[in-house]
Amino acid sequence: MIYLDNAATTKMSDKAVEEQLFWACSNFYNPSATYSQAVKVSFELSNARTRLKKLLGVKNGDIIFTSGATEANNLAIRGSERNGDWEYVFSSGEHASVYNLAKQLELEGKVVKYVPLVESGEIYITELEKALSTKTRVVSIIFVNNVTGAINNIKEISKIVRNKSPKAILHIDGVQAFCKIPFKLSELDVDLFSISAHKFHGPKGVGALYVKNKSSLKSIVYGGGQEFGIRSGTENVPGIMSMTVAAENIDIKSNYEKVKLLREKFEDAIRDDKIKLVSTQNGSPYILSLLFEGINGETLVRILENDIIVGRGSACSSKKAGNHVLQAMDYSAEQIKGAIRVSFDSSLTEEQVVYSAEKIKNEYLSLLEKLK
Ligand code: PMP
Repeated sequence: MIYLDNAATTKMSDKAVEEQLFWACSNFYNPSATYSQAVKVSFELSNARTRLKKLLGVKNGDIIFTSGATEANNLAIRGSERNGDWEYVFSSGEHASVYNLAKQLELEGKVVKYVPLVESGEIYITELEKALSTKTRVVSIIFVNNVTGAINNIKEISKIVRNKSPKAILHIDGVQAFCKIPFKLSELDVDLFSISAHKFHGPKGVGALYVKNKSSLKSIVYGGGQEFGIRSGTENVPGIMSMTVAAENIDIKSNYEKVKLLREKFEDAIRDDKIKLVSTQNGSPYILSLLFEGINGETLVRILENDIIVGRGSACSSKKAGNHVLQAMDYSAEQIKGAIRVSFDSSLTEEQVVYSAEKIKNEYLSLLEKLK
């Protein structure tokens, strides 16, 4: 079976599993307790924050551990929300965990602005400039789009935000970027940055929010005051330690080169007049969205699933009709019906991706014939 849905989730690495087991069974103490065994766990949690900051490429600020990026995104936005005459700016290409929260803010009567996407899937920079003002409180932008792989230029975006909205908090959903594309967080000048362990061979249900200045972030859950009083609840120590090891074991640059090559081989083998590639060469090589016109993408997923696993637009919203990211890129409902997302991992071989591309193409073309 060939797994090509690595943007939905990845298989845990052996080292991550080993680490999780160690902290679950041998060193299971509650980090908030006062005996020496627990203090040691708390010390290792602090170390994990430093280790993750190093991997992110930043010295200042803090790491707040969460149950994943959905929570980190919600904490970033809700925790930065303030009463008063404020405005909130999002892109039309955000993940459901930001996009649906933006819709909720609208329902609550907040002024919410959506920045449209250009044809290749990045945010429309001149429209961002127009949406920003001195009233902007939060700007939340996805780094690498989880449907198309389009990469937003965060450095450029942060310059514009600082210039036009000096009081704004800038949050970046970095889930599909961290451990995949090279960057240094200290060079991006952002306030908040979300990551999720299961996208880089760590466990599910754990993630983190990087926070530049924690005094500006309000808590959204109340309890024992863990995580600097911002995110109460006993920390998922096995998950956090496993996430940290998973990230440390990734060679971002060499994986990137390998995946880029795999992606090229896949594209060469699947090329056909009837198949449209949504993703461009400028995006992350890890994610490739394709449109198979005239069929339902779900049918293709089912035909392939015993041999090759591919995804729809986004695993989190794939059970819902439509796809707001592809809609924002002006694709029609009919085109979106035939959308498939292929997402790669460096453990794949050239033979596997070429075989998959040919099989996907052949299955699609024979399905089209049958539907005639
Ligand atoms: N943001 C993006 C860009 C994602 O791809 C995902 C995972 N689908 C999330 C947020 C949510 O992450 P989690 O599964 O950890 O809640």
